[in-house]
Amino acid sequence: MPERTLIIVKPDGVQRHLTGKIISRFESKGLKLVGAKFIQISPELAQKHYAVHKDKPFFEGVVKYLSSGPSMVMVWEAEGVIAMARKMMGATFGFDAEPGTIRGDFGCSMRYNLVHGSDSPASAEEEINLYFTDEELVDYDLSGAAWLYGTNN
Ligand code: ADP
Ligand code: MG
Repeated sequence: MPERTLIIVKPDGVQRHLTGKIISRFESKGLKLVGAKFIQISPELAQKHYAVHKDKPFFEGVVKYLSSGPSMVMVWEAEGVIAMARKMMGATFGFDAEPGTIRGDFGCSMRYNLVHGSDSPASAEEEINLYFTDEELVDYDLSGAAWLYGTNN
């Protein structure tokens, strides 16, 4: 199975009406959407999500941020999707993220950054399992795959 990654449009992205624009970046890129849910992440779940940062000074703040309103939580699939999505997101905060990236194009905050994406195969697996059961991830063929990936000739 091709690689999968967890992508979240965080609460600021939803409140700023950027959910569609952010999804459209991944959709236009040719990635395959295999799961999605619109939920308010609980503080307990946010703590689990950011457990690797539990000793950082920003831990409490980022848990509050992620649970402060609804989020669009998604799983996208493609060969190499984890690194690809990270590149598309840009550097952690919009004020120094490159133009052309999601964070670079839509934000300038030093606190909020619109989008989350898994940073390694291990964290992708862990994060996907935090939000989705196997049954919630849809198995289907992308009809345009041959044109997208250049495998028709
Ligand atoms: P990324 O989301 O780019 O992988 P990190 O894993 O380093 O970034 O941090 C996780 C999240 O914690 C960031 O997306 C951001 O929301 C928040 N964060 C990171 N560093 C800071 C900071 N110095 N101050 C406030 N929030 C931060
Ligand atoms: Mg990270």
